[in-house]
Amino acid sequence: MQRVLVTGGAGFLGSHLCDRLIQQGHEVLCVDNYFTGSKRNIAHLLGKPEFELLRHDITFPLYVEVERIFNLACPASPVHYQYDPVQTTKTSVHGAINMLGLAKRLNARILQASTSEVYGDPEVHPQAEGYWGRVNPIGLRSCYDEGKRCAETLFFDYHRQHALDIKVVRIFNTYGPRMHPNDGRVVSNFIVQALRGEDITIFGDGTQTRSFCYVDDLIEAMLRMMDTEAGFTGPINIGNPDEFTMLELAETVLRLVGGRSRLVYRPLPSDDPRQRQPDIRLATEKLDWIPSIAVEDGLKETIGYFRRLLAEDAA
Ligand code: NAD
Ligand code: UDP
Ligand code: UDP
Repeated sequence: MQRVLVTGGAGFLGSHLCDRLIQQGHEVLCVDNYFTGSKRNIAHLLGKPEFELLRHDITFPLYVEVERIFNLACPASPVHYQYDPVQTTKTSVHGAINMLGLAKRLNARILQASTSEVYGDPEVHPQAEGYWGRVNPIGLRSCYDEGKRCAETLFFDYHRQHALDIKVVRIFNTYGPRMHPNDGRVVSNFIVQALRGEDITIFGDGTQTRSFCYVDDLIEAMLRMMDTEAGFTGPINIGNPDEFTMLELAETVLRLVGGRSRLVYRPLPSDDPRQRQPDIRLATEKLDWIPSIAVEDGLKETIGYFRRLLAEDAA
């Protein structure tokens, strides 16, 4: 049993991580400022003695006592991270400095939720960890991409300079229950649009690709990474290599939901990556992990979640 801090614990991935840590018998301190997260995501944990919730913004120092830190706090969808881009960079950079300072004082192991966005709009396909990426430093996505890149730099410098025990995971597009219905990410958008019978918004011509991982698979890999031997820092890709176009995703969602939504085309946002697929050979080797949930099965679970959520909100 360990005392574990999860920053961003009221968010989509963070709340699933809190669930799994509690199931494993750990004590969890969930820290969140509720920018994109919600108490609803962790309401079922609130009565448990092993679970504690703290409203706090990690751009400010945090003095608590824990043995392990999962640093997930950061808005993740383009709509949300571009809403207040300066705060997004502060969350990644000042937030990382504070959490690393905390880890240093406590001599605690710390894991950073980094992202495939560090590869930018890649000219290497699929993306392996050795690829340095192609990121625009001054575009609309830069607050997120460069913030996350700088956070990785800080993690590796604290490791080299202060011998901190770090782990860095690069997460590729992940979906599942508890995604924010209005956060603008493609999976939640398409499902909510299909359930409401609204038009499905394809950005650009829909031929750009992504590879989507179901949340349970992702959390399993993250937990395994945290338990790897000291000295193995990553960065390590985690994601599902099953790649498809946004048009194919729209068609699959429409088929699973039914209904009569039409596809409509909207301008492609700037710097939108053309293609993305994780090379997960390192994760397979080091974590003995491959994703096990097929996209159709994961989408069915996610559709069921949004169906219930929309019905509750309508009631
Ligand atoms: P999310 O928006 O649901 O969760 C982020 C959480 O962080 C929210 O609860 C939010 O309120 C909280 N937060 C934001 N700024 C904060 C601050 N300054 N202080 C305290 N809390 C703050 O997003 P998510 O999908 O759960 O993403 C979690 C992490 O995983 C993020 O760091 C994200 O960059 C990373 N990630 C996610 C994906 C994905 O596909 N979901 C892909 C790559 C990386
Ligand atoms: N910090 C924190 N909690 C702690 C210890 C440090 O939030 O328990 C913050 C503190 O605000 C500091 C930052 O982490 O600015 C970096 O800490 P570090 O010890 O690396 O640097 P220093 O304190 O020397 O600036
Ligand atoms: N996208 C889309 N329609 C939407 C939302 C997104 O076609 O309603 C596209 C978006 O342009 C991108 C892909 O879907 O090419 C994935 O977008 P998301 O925001 O989910 O993730 P990211 O771009 O950060 O990988």
